[in-house]
Amino acid sequence: MAEPRAEVVIDLDAVRANVARLVELAGPAETMVVVKADGYGHGAVEVGRAALEAGASWLGTAALAEALQLRAAGIDAPVLCWLDAVGTDMRAAADAGIDVSVSTVEQLKAASGARLHLKVDTGLGRSGCPAALWPELVRAAAESGERVHAIWSHLACADVPGHPSIDAQAERFARAYGEALVAGLEPRRHIANSAATLTRPDLRFDMVRTGIAGYGLNPVPGGESLTPAMTFRSSVVSVKEIAAGESVSYGHTWTAERDTRLALVPVGYADGVPRLLSGRFSVLLNGERRPVRGRVCMDQIAVECDAATRPGDEVVLFGPGTRGEPTATEWAETIGTIDYEIVTGMYRSRVSRAYRGRR
Ligand SMILES: *Cc1c(COP(=O)(O)O)cnc(C)c1O
Repeated sequence: MAEPRAEVVIDLDAVRANVARLVELAGPAETMVVVKADGYGHGAVEVGRAALEAGASWLGTAALAEALQLRAAGIDAPVLCWLDAVGTDMRAAADAGIDVSVSTVEQLKAASGARLHLKVDTGLGRSGCPAALWPELVRAAAESGERVHAIWSHLACADVPGHPSIDAQAERFARAYGEALVAGLEPRRHIANSAATLTRPDLRFDMVRTGIAGYGLNPVPGGESLTPAMTFRSSVVSVKEIAAGESVSYGHTWTAERDTRLALVPVGYADGVPRLLSGRFSVLLNGERRPVRGRVCMDQIAVECDAATRPGDEVVLFGPGTRGEPTATEWAETIGTIDYEIVTGMYRSRVSRAYRGRR
């Protein structure tokens, strides 16, 4: 097989270390590791296994299909999925032993045997039962005879510690819990994402649901040191010299002030390098940060290099930062997004994925 043009390398030892730290922080609450969107672009099955080895006891997904993929790979730990299309086959969830989320009485009626987590909207304004309808939902759930494992909710601003909405959501969650008890349920509770797990011990309840932190990216500035698990690498395909005054790439946005050596690297915006980074980023090439010149194209970038650079030399686009390479967080900050979007966007057909660390 030909060398891949580019690959993401996932360090499963880093995932295990991050998850072990989260499990330790969360205890005695259980830890669910969220592996939606193919494990935030890291590989749901591989990350799921590593997370369970590191002490997580649950996995979480958005779509039922993602949860079924874990079962198909032989993962038999508890799995919750929480967001699905109309007409989702709830029987398939029940048959596979997958817990599902329910936000309405209609969904409750369709549940057909899968264990349930009732979701209350405490202020995110997305899915979840509105507070006004909650007493009716918990009453219907209690009367239905369906198994209700937990009530749960999701926070809007946990990544801004001290944001007033966090306490407001916590208060509404407490009220919703009281109403569930009144209805005769004895549910567990979960509301904390990574940011809340790291900053709000009082919100860990019976389980935390950590996503991004397990992948080594910290949603709250400073604090816990985690190890980013994903490295995005490629290699030089060719090297050439251009004369002073010549320009590079579409739009000629960059012009060489002196004779310049350029290394061509076969990754572009089709491979997950945001075009918005054009003119604003560098890569690690032979141990040095080297600027990328001109616009990011669909399939390639041009990196300023020195006379020692050769075809085949490794180029690290982002990684944990330990060798001086950029991080996904640095990319995100440069273009005004979050690192979640950078890593989750890295699952692309032209970029292969490899694993490092014990599998
Ligand atoms: C994605 C998600 C999480 C994980 O969030 P992080 O910020 O990545 O920790 C937790 N709960 C729900 C409902 C989610 O959709």
